[in-house]
Amino acid sequence: MLKNILNIPVLGPIVRSTWTWRLVRLIMLALLLVMIAFGWHQHAIPGVKVRDPLMYSNFTTFNLWVLWMMGMVVVAMVFGRSWCTVCPVGWINGVLSRFGLRREMPSWLNNFVPVTLVLVFLQLLVYFFSIHRYPDYTAIFLTWMLILALVAGLVFRQRSFCLLLCPAGAVFSLYARLAPWQLRVSDKSVCAGCSAKPCISMEPAWRQAALGGMRLSWRTQPEGCPVGLVPAEINDSSACTLCLNCVQTCCNDNVSLGVRGWPGDLNKQGLRFGETLFFLVLLGLLTANFAKVYVDLREAVFWAPETLAVSLGWEAAGFYPLAVIWVGLIFPLLLLLPGVLVYLVGQIKVSTLEGEPANGASVVPTAAILPGLISFLGRLALPLLPMILSAHFALAIVKLNAKFGYLLLALQDPSGVKSYLAINVMQTLAPPGVLVSLDVLKWVIVAILLTGFVLSVLAARAVAKSGFTGQRGMDLPFMLAALVSLVILSGFYGSTVVEWLFVR
Ligand code: SF4
Ligand code: SF4
Repeated sequence: MLKNILNIPVLGPIVRSTWTWRLVRLIMLALLLVMIAFGWHQHAIPGVKVRDPLMYSNFTTFNLWVLWMMGMVVVAMVFGRSWCTVCPVGWINGVLSRFGLRREMPSWLNNFVPVTLVLVFLQLLVYFFSIHRYPDYTAIFLTWMLILALVAGLVFRQRSFCLLLCPAGAVFSLYARLAPWQLRVSDKSVCAGCSAKPCISMEPAWRQAALGGMRLSWRTQPEGCPVGLVPAEINDSSACTLCLNCVQTCCNDNVSLGVRGWPGDLNKQGLRFGETLFFLVLLGLLTANFAKVYVDLREAVFWAPETLAVSLGWEAAGFYPLAVIWVGLIFPLLLLLPGVLVYLVGQIKVSTLEGEPANGASVVPTAAILPGLISFLGRLALPLLPMILSAHFALAIVKLNAKFGYLLLALQDPSGVKSYLAINVMQTLAPPGVLVSLDVLKWVIVAILLTGFVLSVLAARAVAKSGFTGQRGMDLPFMLAALVSLVILSGFYGSTVVEWLFVR
C-alpha cells in the first residue's frame, strides 16, 4: 500500500487534490509574510547590553533558523524533497513563471554553480552580519528571497529560482537520493502510448465548468513539470520537487508516490560537476559547524585561515573571506584527500617494458585509469551522503531539543522583547528547558551517527558493485577509498560528540 500512497482511501484523494496544496502553500506564504512583518525593525532591545537578545525569543528568527532550517533536515531524511511541495517561495516563482517573459534558462546557468555561490554568499552574510541572530536581518533576507523568486519567475519559465538560487533545494536534491521515498511512473509503457502527455505539456488549453444552465470556458496555461523533467524518464529523485503537478495532470493515473527500498538512488551515477562542487562546500561548512562545540578541534580547523589573516595583518573582516574559501573548498578536499590517494594507488597496474600486460592484466589508457578528480569525487560523494546526513540530522536534533521550548513564547510575544525581559531581566519567567535530557540525548546522537556510518558502508558496497565489470565483482580501490573517507569523517564527528556530550 505504501508503494503508492495515492491509492490509499481518503489520504490519496487529499494528496492528489490541487486545492489541498494551494491551501497549504497559501498558509505557508502567509506565514512567511508574518515572519517578515514580525522581524522588520526588531534588531535589539534598547537598554539591554546583549548584542542579540531576540535570537530565539523573536518569532522570525526562531521560526526560520530553528523550526524551518532544522525541521527541513528531519523532513528531508524521511520524505526527500517534500519540503519543496509546500515551499511558498518556489510556489510563487512557479506561478509567476507562467505569466512573465517565459525565457528558457541558459544551460550554462543550470548546473549548481550559481547555487553553490549563493551558499558561499550566505555563509559570508552569517560571518559578517550574523543574520541568523537578528530578526530584522532575517526579515530582509526573506524579503530578498521573495524578490529574487518574483524576478526570476517573471524572466524565466519553470522554477528557475529553485534551480538557480535555492541552497535548501540543492541540499534536498542530495539527501533525496537516499530518502526512502520516491515519485515515479507506475508503468513506462503507458507513458509511451500516451499521445496527449498533459504532465509535460505547456500548450495553452481550454477548461470548462457548468454553472446551472451556463457553461463557463476559460483558457489555462499549463506549467508542465516546473523543473523540466519527463516523469517517465526519472530515474533518480534528486531533481523532482514533488510539486505533484504530474500526479494531478496525468490522464492515465500512472504516477505513483511511495516508499522504496535501499539504497535508493545511491547506486546510480555519481554527482555531476556542479553538484560535486556544491557537495564539497556543504561538506566543509557542515563539518566545520559540527566542530564548533569542540574548541580544540575548531581551532585546528580554522588554524590555517587565522594564521594567514594574522600574517597578512588583516582584521576580522579580512579573515571571513579566507575562512569561507578554506572551509568551503580546501578543508573538504583535505578531508577527502586520503581516500583519493588510496584510490589512485589502487589504480596502479604494472606492465612489462614491451608494453605487454603483466600477469594477464589488460593495458588501460591512462585517462581511463585515472578518472578526473571531480568525477571521482562525484562518485565518492554518494556513499558519504548517509554519514553527512546523519551529522546534519544530529545537529538539527540537538538544536530542536534545546530551543523548541521557545515556540510558545514566540507565539505569545512574536516580537520577543517581553519574553526576553521576563526571562533575563525581571526573571519572572524560567527559560525554556530542553525537551530531552542531555543524558538521554547523547545516546540518541551516538545511535544516529552509528546508523549513518553503517548505511554509508552499505552504500559504499552498493556503489563499488554497481556498473563494475571487473573480475572481483567490486571496484575494490573505490571501496577502500570510501572506507578511508568514512573513517576520517566519522572520527571527526565522533570525537566532537565524545568531547562535547561525554567528557564536558
Ligand atoms: S527548491 Fe527551494 S525555493 Fe524551490 S521549492 Fe524547494 S525549498 Fe522552495
Ligand atoms: S516530476 Fe512531477 S512532481 Fe516532480 S517536479 Fe516534475 S511535475 Fe513536479
